[in-house]
Amino acid sequence: MTKETTEERAAGAAIDVRGLRKSFGALEVLRGIDFSVARGEVVCVIGPSGSGKSTLLRCVNLLEEPSAGRVTVAGTEVTDPEVDIDRVRRRIGMVFQSFHLFPHLTALENLTIAQRRVLHRGRAEAERIARTNLARVGLSGKEAAYPAQLSGGQQQRVAIARALSMDPELMLFDEPTSALDPELVGDVLAVMRALARDGMTMLVVTHEMSFAREVADRVVFMDDGSIVEEGTPEQVVGAPRHERTRTFLARVL
Ligand code: ADP
Ligand code: MG
Repeated sequence: MTKETTEERAAGAAIDVRGLRKSFGALEVLRGIDFSVARGEVVCVIGPSGSGKSTLLRCVNLLEEPSAGRVTVAGTEVTDPEVDIDRVRRRIGMVFQSFHLFPHLTALENLTIAQRRVLHRGRAEAERIARTNLARVGLSGKEAAYPAQLSGGQQQRVAIARALSMDPELMLFDEPTSALDPELVGDVLAVMRALARDGMTMLVVTHEMSFAREVADRVVFMDDGSIVEEGTPEQVVGAPRHERTRTFLARVL
């Protein structure tokens, strides 16, 4: 077997992160992160509040500029200053804890606006794709509803459908169910489970350990700006090797 070079591995992966560091002033938030996500893989990132999980996600689509290191997304090195980051971001769907829908637009309009402005799709095509994706998240019939007329779980599913309407190659989720009432979490996780089954590449920051256990191919535990351990859910959640992982799990499980 020939040894894969760093460049070859980065080119084949959906996400490849090498030596990633990020500081805010004197505060070092990411202290040298190395990891990658293969195409079609679902990776869950877990860890205490403040450990750098959101910053890691935000460095993948350059919402934050890394202080050092290299980030490659679908073969494009996004940390290369020559790269057109808007083109790269178009290929990455992002879903946040708060839904970031436009309050003055209907569900359908929330799904068509970026398709029309960014992808330059015509109205009919954008609406057809929007309806398909609203159906995919279980919201057929809610096309004309405004965000305020929808539950938090429904709003988050609109946000997921909006991301899907841009045909992303991968999806980043940052605690997508943390702002939801407990009885609304299940519907959102069901949509994410279906996406994973359809082969979507997903990097998911979550505190939902049952989701991580069932859906993740791999779980990454972060603490204090570093990856402490990673492995299958059985390894990391079921039989953690590190004391810090055990302490964290004891609090969330
Ligand atoms: P997590 O998502 O794991 O809770 P974050 O990545 O949000 O952690 O934050 C990690 C650390 O970085 C925290 O101490 C947080 O206060 C700090 N931080 C995050 N964003 C900024 C910012 N824009 N400016 C200064 N500090 C920040
Ligand atoms: Mg966070």
